[in-house]
Amino acid sequence: MMYPWQAEQWQQFTQYLSSQRLAHANLISGPAAIGKLEFCLAYMQRLNCTQPNKENTACGECNDCRLFSARTHPDVRMINVDEEVEQIKIDDIRELNKFMSLSRHIGTYKAVCINQADLMNINASNALLKTLEEPPANSIIFLVSHHAESLLATIKSRCQIWKFPLPSVKQALDWLQQQDKSVDWKSLLPGAGNRPLLAMELYETGLGEERLDYYRDIHQLMHCKEKVTKISAKLQNEELQKLVGWQQAWCADLIRCHYKKEPVTLENPDIRRSLHSLVGRVDLQSLYSFWDKLIELRRFSSAPLNKRLFIEDMLVRCQEILEQPV
Ligand SMILES: [Zn+2]
Repeated sequence: MMYPWQAEQWQQFTQYLSSQRLAHANLISGPAAIGKLEFCLAYMQRLNCTQPNKENTACGECNDCRLFSARTHPDVRMINVDEEVEQIKIDDIRELNKFMSLSRHIGTYKAVCINQADLMNINASNALLKTLEEPPANSIIFLVSHHAESLLATIKSRCQIWKFPLPSVKQALDWLQQQDKSVDWKSLLPGAGNRPLLAMELYETGLGEERLDYYRDIHQLMHCKEKVTKISAKLQNEELQKLVGWQQAWCADLIRCHYKKEPVTLENPDIRRSLHSLVGRVDLQSLYSFWDKLIELRRFSSAPLNKRLFIEDMLVRCQEILEQPV
């Protein structure tokens, strides 16, 4: 599926295809939750479609399209992060190299997508370099990443880089309203950093409201209007990993605000005012210690001895970042 804000990129990609200028390796980079992977998949399907329609998108009906949709196309591979280790492992890249070295089955192209390519570990990255250095004919590799700065420079230098920007607020709102007219997207979108797919996810999961509710409690806590024990009692049945994740995002944002009055990107732009109300009162060294503490807490969050104590510990440490602790 291709989104309306990607029309220009689609046109470029299909022009490159028809003039046979498409690079062997392509890096699709840009912010998260704007549909880069969906674009890449739509394009991979288009590569082997035998009867593209007049909009120059895949027909969805030919044999190649059907195999692609069923994820059984023999000339297509998808590499994802191993969720257990949160990395792309060397074994996956080795298998990919082997796949690339074999001849094509039915398609015009061999097409491979490495999603979240920046999560390749160093061995995996080095293994990929070999294939990038000697690309087999009629094979195309796509690297999709929202942290392209973390990729090895040697990998990036072998890729054609395609930058996918955030859609404009109007484009995002138009699309969201088409999906569901009854939702107040104007209020939700800023909290998702103007990323339409994240706004949709926050709405569908209800996490947008829950998250804001959590930050409201933290705001009250930091302004001495609420007690640790009361908040921990309220949160004791929540998933700890989620809470630590929110707290980490909050802490990272506060560090950003500390260094720059108007940081360009915040993970939680919708609580900017609350964060700024704290900037002048925070002891930077304690803030960094809190960050370290959160990393430690994250490790133990899957198996805490006592959930309520765990949350209290986190909240007390949060209060301690203030210059004059309460
Ligand atoms: Zn087709």
